[in-house]
Amino acid sequence: MKNILQAPFMVEMIRTTTNMYNHGWDERNGGNISLLLEENDVKKYLETDRVLRSIPTGFTAPELEGKYFLVTGTGKYFKNVQYAPEVNLGIVRLKDEGRLADLLWGYEDGGQFTSEFPAHMMSHVARLKVDDKNRVVMHCHPANLLAMTYVHDLDEKAFTRTLWQMCTECIVVFPEGVNVLPWMLCGTNEIGEATAEKMRTARLVVWAQHGIYGAGKDLDETFGLIETAEKGAEIYMKIAHLPIKNTITDEQMHLLEKRFNIKAREGYLS
Ligand SMILES: [Zn+2]
Repeated sequence: MKNILQAPFMVEMIRTTTNMYNHGWDERNGGNISLLLEENDVKKYLETDRVLRSIPTGFTAPELEGKYFLVTGTGKYFKNVQYAPEVNLGIVRLKDEGRLADLLWGYEDGGQFTSEFPAHMMSHVARLKVDDKNRVVMHCHPANLLAMTYVHDLDEKAFTRTLWQMCTECIVVFPEGVNVLPWMLCGTNEIGEATAEKMRTARLVVWAQHGIYGAGKDLDETFGLIETAEKGAEIYMKIAHLPIKNTITDEQMHLLEKRFNIKAREGYLS
């Protein structure tokens, strides 16, 4: 067996959580990530029939039966992942239609996966239906996106258009826009289901007065999505209270569509 701490997926997860902490997106135990792993990759590092314990998930997700995930732990700090990955992360395999998660590695202090596990797993189900290459669901608390939910209309089209107008790259990076949920109680199946529903049409879902969810093929892509939306929100928070003299027009957005061969969300541009 190879050393799991040197597995590319582990190295990338540790770098990503560290980077997110350094961006200020994951104060204290804020934020969580789940990464869908290939069974063949896991088998290089773990005896997959050696189950440490089984943890009830509190939901069903038959689509994910038998699937492996590397997941950040509940109550754990992103800043600490790099120093003790085996305590702050865990690898689980779902069984019994998703009702149980077999722990194969990690959570060594007796812990378990993030309290937002329902939102993560339901979002994976939703995204895999749209894109079978989707592997990552990521949640964090970037300050400018959060701030924007206090002062900007939460209408998805309006919110998306504002972000697109804040920097040229935004429409190119997330042409499907961002979806928005109003404030809801976190850690519940209800917010999980609502997030998954929003994930059917976009890889970014803002939780008003809380943070953002991103989904993507790999950790880099998902990080980059959130990073770009957060940059848009940062510009907005710098200029929203000033007289606006210029913007990116819809005509210019159409030029970007052509140049980058992307298609903006239907009905979002005039
Ligand atoms: Zn959160």
